[in-house]
Amino acid sequence: MSFFDAFAALGIGFSNLFRPKITEPLPWKQTRPRPERYRASFALVHNEHGDQACIGCKMCQKICPSQIITVTTGPKAPSPATGKKRGWASDFTLDLNACIICELCVQVCPTDAILMLRVQQQPAFDRNDLLLTMDRLYANEELHQLTWATGTKLVEMQNPKPKPQPQLQSQPKETP
Ligand code: SF4
Ligand code: SF4
Repeated sequence: MSFFDAFAALGIGFSNLFRPKITEPLPWKQTRPRPERYRASFALVHNEHGDQACIGCKMCQKICPSQIITVTTGPKAPSPATGKKRGWASDFTLDLNACIICELCVQVCPTDAILMLRVQQQPAFDRNDLLLTMDRLYANEELHQLTWATGTKLVEMQNPKPKPQPQLQSQPKETP
């Protein structure tokens, strides 16, 4: 590079100091609100009677495309709250390592027992940290904010009830 080229390059650099700003720095002090549909991780929840809502039906296990849910169905037993006999899950694991966040497990659950969380998934250094056991899933119900998206609501969104159509008034027949 000649002395003239170096001088020209310095001139270009110097002239850039006075050009109007065309980019903005990221707002590092500002926390952007999390989108309403943000989802990460899972919780098992209790129903309105205070019982574990999961009935051990294995629908979530069967539909999961990643095959990462394992449900062990326990014996049917009466609910301590209502006295009615019902199904229970004796064990439940969900391996987040291979979850693709498709939410099919939530959509298919007949009792709205499994929900996703509106919290950021924490990075893990051990695969076992991402293995959600039954205890961890029920603990997440208390520890984290749940999404609004229960299986019932998601299914309703996909199959909205048809709005009642206005009745057409019958026209009087013309007499010949
Ligand atoms: S979100 Fe999809 S991949 Fe993840 S556990 Fe549920 S069904 Fe499986
Ligand atoms: S979480 Fe829902 S779909 Fe899965 S086993 Fe329990 S009741 Fe059935």
